[in-house]
Amino acid sequence: MSEQQYILAIDEGTTSARAIVFDHSGHVVAIGQQEFEQILPRAGWVEHNPVEIMTAVNEVVGQALVKAGINRHQLAAVGVTNQRETTVVWDKNTGEPVYNAIVWQDGRTGAIVDEIAGGDTLGTERYRQITGENISNYPSAPKIKWILDNVDGARERAEAGDLLFGTADSWVVWNLTGGVNGGVHVTDVTNASRTLLMDVRELTWREDICKDFGIPTSMLPEIKSSSEIYGYGAKNSLLIDTPIAGILGDQQAATFGQACFESGNVKNTYGTGCFVLMNTGTEPVFSKNGLLTTVCYKLGDQKTVYALEGSVAVAGSLVQWLRDNLRMIDSAPEIEELANTVEDNGGAYIVPAFSGLFAPYWRNEARGALVGLTRYVNRGHLARAVIEATAFQTRDVVGAMNADSGVPITELKVDGGMTANNTLMQFQADQVGVPVIRPVVAETTALGAAYAAGIAVGFWSGEQDVIDNWAEDKRWEPKGDREENDRLYRNWQKAVTKTFDWVDKDVKD
Ligand code: ADP
Repeated sequence: MSEQQYILAIDEGTTSARAIVFDHSGHVVAIGQQEFEQILPRAGWVEHNPVEIMTAVNEVVGQALVKAGINRHQLAAVGVTNQRETTVVWDKNTGEPVYNAIVWQDGRTGAIVDEIAGGDTLGTERYRQITGENISNYPSAPKIKWILDNVDGARERAEAGDLLFGTADSWVVWNLTGGVNGGVHVTDVTNASRTLLMDVRELTWREDICKDFGIPTSMLPEIKSSSEIYGYGAKNSLLIDTPIAGILGDQQAATFGQACFESGNVKNTYGTGCFVLMNTGTEPVFSKNGLLTTVCYKLGDQKTVYALEGSVAVAGSLVQWLRDNLRMIDSAPEIEELANTVEDNGGAYIVPAFSGLFAPYWRNEARGALVGLTRYVNRGHLARAVIEATAFQTRDVVGAMNADSGVPITELKVDGGMTANNTLMQFQADQVGVPVIRPVVAETTALGAAYAAGIAVGFWSGEQDVIDNWAEDKRWEPKGDREENDRLYRNWQKAVTKTFDWVDKDVKD
């Protein structure tokens, strides 16, 4: 092999930027990480400063290279993975963002969504049939419209062709490849499939939907595959002349890093929220059970691979709520100890519908509930109920996937911070009734982006290398009484219904 022995993955996440150097066996050599500010101007609004994101990205690239003791000559390529849907609009002549990035969790676009969905005689279904996504606060399109409607002069500048839109991957790659000095304005099919603007079958922007949202098509990046050379690191940068050769949205990257290449393979990432993706092969499957249809990956000019996705908004963040709002624990891992002071949930269920429920319910108006309380219930039971909520929500999504695909899943590959919780992982296996498996390399998101980039430049030959490098760390087999587990799940489903429509129609975020 040449001196280029490493791949660098840049993971521009929701709370921090990370850069990870991987070797040819897919092992982590060094990590750089830096958090950036969560800007919360109002209840329900979440923003990032795009300039701060780029500062953090450049910083962590430097950190990772220094820690690995290498320079860019030893990198075969760079891959990028990112928080999806998050929307940046910037001026192509100055490189300056016209507004902060509006983050995927942001709920400010409710009125825009109501207005556009309301005027559509086919309702929300039309958008789903074309893009695979529901019209909601979640995708990028309403966020772009909000910026064009609310930032002084933005619409005129956009119509004059001066403004560019990008999800976080586009913003990062445009800057890495030179910005105003020749930066490439691209995105990949996985990120484009989160905007509500792409035809999920054709992989092209839909002019009619752009028109619905008043978005000039001149703003949009070119849609590329997930694995090809998009451009090279800019002059005077740390990555000068290094091919930028992979882009995958974070959840698709984790699916790739977990080697979910066969139709029916499923992974779940347990972080702030939970994101379950099932590879459905080269044809898109349109859900009858509340799941999104999304692009899983596309390697160069090979066929597009699709996925069904179920996103759960609140998982690890419920643990944080127990820590920060109720102060029942001092750190997230302590929840396990507390939960293990009791045998079961004592009859208590917590449904964390803090800002509505995503898949498979899609209830914007739902709000959280704690049900089944008796004089008997103590802190341990509540800790247990918090842990169980994540497993039940995952079972909701897996059940929807089984129904849509007609073939029950046979195992669940897992990653993310909450997989350190043994009690949760065991209960998850009991609930879904199949083995739950965690890989040795926990950094599956960055790893997926590294593989996409490495495959593009021939550093790895294809999916088989990913499969060969994937190794199991730990496995939880389903245990316990199936009937009892099902009874608990029926109680959970009943608890979920208690979060619907219980308050006045206009709940404000
Ligand atoms: P993200 O990438 O979304 O920031 P991570 O994968 O880093 O998330 O996971 C962090 C989340 O996992 C936090 O919400 C935290 O509360 C939760 N978490 C971390 N360790 C544990 C644990 N041992 N048990 C339960 N939850 C945990």
